[in-house]
Amino acid sequence: MKSCDPGHDFDDFFSLYKNCCLCPRACQVDRTDTSVDARLGFCRQAAIPVIASVCPHFGEEPPFSGTHGSGTVFFSGCTLRCSFCQNYQISHRCMGKESDTEAILKKLTDMIQTYHVHNINFVTPDHFFPHVFHITGLLRNLGYKLPVIYNLSGYQAVNMLKLAEPHVDIYLPDFKFSDPDLAKNLAGRKDYPKTAIDAISEMVKQKGFLDSFSSGKKIASKGVLVRHLILPGYTDNSIDALSTLFIEFGPDIPVSIMSQYYPVRESRYKSLNRMVSRKEFDKVYSHAIDLGFEHLFVQYPEDMSARSSPFLPDFTQVHPFGKSMPCK
Ligand code: SF4
Repeated sequence: MKSCDPGHDFDDFFSLYKNCCLCPRACQVDRTDTSVDARLGFCRQAAIPVIASVCPHFGEEPPFSGTHGSGTVFFSGCTLRCSFCQNYQISHRCMGKESDTEAILKKLTDMIQTYHVHNINFVTPDHFFPHVFHITGLLRNLGYKLPVIYNLSGYQAVNMLKLAEPHVDIYLPDFKFSDPDLAKNLAGRKDYPKTAIDAISEMVKQKGFLDSFSSGKKIASKGVLVRHLILPGYTDNSIDALSTLFIEFGPDIPVSIMSQYYPVRESRYKSLNRMVSRKEFDKVYSHAIDLGFEHLFVQYPEDMSARSSPFLPDFTQVHPFGKSMPCK
């Protein structure tokens, strides 16, 4: 079996699809194979990106959405595929359209010129890193200097993040689980907590903390912001996750505590069939305050009462986030 470590000077990114180790699952399948075998990796994706939507998005944290929106690119498929995924239509059902480099670049440049988005925000891009690195380079060669965000699950391989370093400005990773058993039950990966902390450490080493706090600018241009989604019935996991982040990175790490959980489909874990209560949110939020985090973003549960919200896309619609956010 071939090695999964391409080495430091490696730049033949598209060859990474041939023995795929783009994420810690290291399936080592050849995704360039045009037969069905190419889709035997866990993410079920071959070597051609499948895109669910490209559009300005106003549901990200203020330093990303600003006034013109964050230029999101939603990739289909996922290397983690949590059972409760809020984007299950694309992560589980793999909705979307195969798009080559040229098509993606055209959509991106159209979006930038039409909406003047503040950044390019690649959502769950890790299984298509070779294309993402390439497209980022092409955008920069065309003179587009806006920050590039990698919006990630936290379940990333450190050697791939090292390759990503020149092709990204902002990392937006989740830290979903501190409890390995919960990670196993809900995402099939007991190693998620350790893997995610190692990945976030590498991201922080490369980019530091999100710069909008120190620069005083409204729009971020570099750094790391960690997201944590509170799961109904699992506040202990949230409390431990916040404690872990605080112990590992200190009070200055920017953290976004999210209450937007919505039961998009029936779960065998009973509490996941409802939304987060105010009491649960208060318990988690108070813990974050008690720990002493300096830079918190917070979503309050009462803002999440409807299925239709800027935080919960419906990819069966032409405009997944509503007509005010026209997608391509
Ligand atoms: S990116 Fe997909 S095929 Fe590659 S290692 Fe990860 S899950 Fe497997």
